[in-house]
Amino acid sequence: RMDAALLALVLFGVAAITLLTVTTRDTYGVPDFMYGIVLDAGSSHSAMFIYKWPADKQNGTGVVTQHQECHVAGGGISSYAGQPGAAGRSLEACLDTAVAAIPKARHRLTPIYLGSTAGMRLLALSHPDVASQILKEVGQKIQSYPFDYKGAAILSGQQEGAYGWVTVNYLLENLIKHDFVGHWLFPTRPTMGALDLGGASTQITFVTGERAEDQRNVMQLRLYGRNYTLYTHSFLCYGRDQALSKLLAHLIQSYGQSGSVSHPCYPADYEVTVAMSEVFDTPCTRDSRPAPSGSLARVRVLGTGQYDQCLANVSQIFNFSRCPFSQCSFDQVFQPNVSGNFMAFSAFYYTHSFLEKTTGVSISTPSHLEKATQEVCQMTYAELLRLMPSQKARLQHYCATASFIRVLMLQGYGFDHNTFPHISFQKTAGDTSVGWTLGYMLALSNLLPAEGAPVMKTLTR
Ligand code: AMP
Repeated sequence: RMDAALLALVLFGVAAITLLTVTTRDTYGVPDFMYGIVLDAGSSHSAMFIYKWPADKQNGTGVVTQHQECHVAGGGISSYAGQPGAAGRSLEACLDTAVAAIPKARHRLTPIYLGSTAGMRLLALSHPDVASQILKEVGQKIQSYPFDYKGAAILSGQQEGAYGWVTVNYLLENLIKHDFVGHWLFPTRPTMGALDLGGASTQITFVTGERAEDQRNVMQLRLYGRNYTLYTHSFLCYGRDQALSKLLAHLIQSYGQSGSVSHPCYPADYEVTVAMSEVFDTPCTRDSRPAPSGSLARVRVLGTGQYDQCLANVSQIFNFSRCPFSQCSFDQVFQPNVSGNFMAFSAFYYTHSFLEKTTGVSISTPSHLEKATQEVCQMTYAELLRLMPSQKARLQHYCATASFIRVLMLQGYGFDHNTFPHISFQKTAGDTSVGWTLGYMLALSNLLPAEGAPVMKTLTR
């Protein structure tokens, strides 16, 4: 009788496993993927992101992941102004990579978008015809590839902020989540704010319950039947590179009439000669531009490595004095109090990571940030080079960038010892890079429904 019972148990076990295997294969069978491509035409460089999702779960959240990314060598598309065809050609290597990375049968079904950000926003301000020519050129280049071309556009600062927020919350499954048997759940946890520091602009985006005093900073989103009221602002000219230019322009204007200028944020053993045209050839430094009569062609910049002076000068590129609302971050921009958790990515992440690696300080409070920044500001170029040879071209800028981030986050956005620890500095979530591109593709290709839970083909309830 024992044998019979054992046999029955074994048979039941086999049947159960078979059933489970069949069910599992039906639901999560070897997926046939769909693909989408976004070209991020940033101010400092362009990058291409290929996303993929199982063909039968188009509307699911958390199911779109990154397949591959490719970084374009050389500068951003706006840096090719005056060189016809060059911006388009710069994208070829990555587009060729996409042809190889996506199965041929999917090429024509693969949407491809190009979005450009603050570098092109600035060029559109200073030379609108050149900006539209570049956009047209890159569009033509993309159309010579076998994908489903969906356009080349300049994102507004609000879009850039909101799509970054969507990416973060989509990847963390904060909007909607599916459990392992395919049920859809609405998470009760709050969403996460997004802090993005690009080359030419910086964005802050978070959900707030506080009253918006300036409608330009409000973005209403409806996702999976829920409403989200976002506060978002993009500060043009406060991206890493433009902020460094603003700082140098401010130093030249204040102290550099003699052809040489001390730079308190550069290491004490560092010196460089820069062309004035390089510093002042951007709308971001217009206010500090010297009068044409006294203009010098070049200026010698001598590092002094003085943290306090660095910080004082960095603070001066922000305007904290006037606010037409009950409260402002800076430059007369309304901002409610920061609340909840935040993810800080792009140059926030790069700088935070550099500070941690070079100083050994684990940065999770404002005083940690201060301590690490001060340490880096006191290092010589030779020391920095010894500690981080891979960042050779950027070493002289970390003290200024770290000081800039400190002023921006603490004095500007108002993070303090209570709220700063709620910021997570990271560049990826899972294996997907964090930035505006995923949110942009999800929104433009209807992978992000406004209403209801998504429908799954194999498991409907
Ligand atoms: P991206 O996120 O590539 O648009 O870059 C944003 C800004 O970060 C630009 O000013 C880049 O020059 C700068 N950047 C890129 N990589 C690094 C790095 N490893 N360390 C510091 N800054 C960086």
